[in-house]
Amino acid sequence: ERQKLKRLRTTRATTLDGTPIELLANIEMPGDVDAVKKSGARGIGLFRTEFLFMNRSSLPGEEEQFHAYRQVAEALRGLPVTIRTLDIGADKPVEPSGIVSTLNPALGLRAIRYCLAEPQIFLTQIRAILRASHFGQVQMLLPMLSSRSELLQTLTLVEQAKAELTQQAIPFNLHLPIGGMIEVPAAALALPLFLDKLDFLSIGTNDLIQYTLAIDRTDDAVAHLFDPLHPAVLMLIAHTLRTAQKAGKPIAICGEMAGNPTMTRLLLGFGLREFSMHPAHLPEVKQVILKTSLADLQNPVKRMLSTHDPDKLEEILTRLNQQVC
Ligand code: PEP
Ligand code: MG
Repeated sequence: ERQKLKRLRTTRATTLDGTPIELLANIEMPGDVDAVKKSGARGIGLFRTEFLFMNRSSLPGEEEQFHAYRQVAEALRGLPVTIRTLDIGADKPVEPSGIVSTLNPALGLRAIRYCLAEPQIFLTQIRAILRASHFGQVQMLLPMLSSRSELLQTLTLVEQAKAELTQQAIPFNLHLPIGGMIEVPAAALALPLFLDKLDFLSIGTNDLIQYTLAIDRTDDAVAHLFDPLHPAVLMLIAHTLRTAQKAGKPIAICGEMAGNPTMTRLLLGFGLREFSMHPAHLPEVKQVILKTSLADLQNPVKRMLSTHDPDKLEEILTRLNQQVC
């Protein structure tokens, strides 16, 4: 059994009809890279940097952040490392707790909104990420975009950080790829707002579901209504993947759906070719991919997108997952 798992680790994730699929890992701390290596992931699709900021009384400075990001970049030896800028607020609180909205935190000063309201904190992190980009294949990912102006303001800050580093003769990758998370329904529906200014995209299904269905992801009282298979959620995901692919933009999914093996075939059928997940889920998802022929997914997936009957949808998915290709 252990031998089998070891072999699975080095096997590339390829469908039966020969399409390579990228499987990447989500991490929260530099120490997670060991698990990433054991999982056989082809890089890091989501480094949730806010965990460096949580459960402490002061914010980490540029040096501390640089060392953490550099450590991960070097450990991955040239594989992509996608560092997400600070996504605090709502489900990811920081001390001192006064610095983010408490009135309606999920809809308040969260993630990119918070960073743009605190440009010094944002600039410090951008500088640290740029500096780390000299030591590996680092890319930067922006959480919770909803308007074009947020992206433009961020790009201005990136230019400012680059100018400062250049002046200080500190090395960095001048062409650091910058991507955006699509996790607010408005962003998914109006993707062209961002496409021309971003190098890649990543769908955050956890927040996309929360904001589409108006279900607080932290509230147990409504947890049973948090439904990844809601037709509106599926339509948004399919639409986002299609729009990005038509525009030739690389796109991944890094929310929990990407690590759920019962969703793997559905997402492949929607056109997804890059999954990022908790390293523990990677072997299972890979096993599904190795047993899937993309050609067989077309019809069932089309039917899933055209039905609004939850029972029928459930039935199609169950059959799709049992299908031996
Ligand atoms: C998501 O929202 O799906 C996501 C990947 O980000 P987080 O869970 O950290 O909000
Ligand atoms: Mg999110």
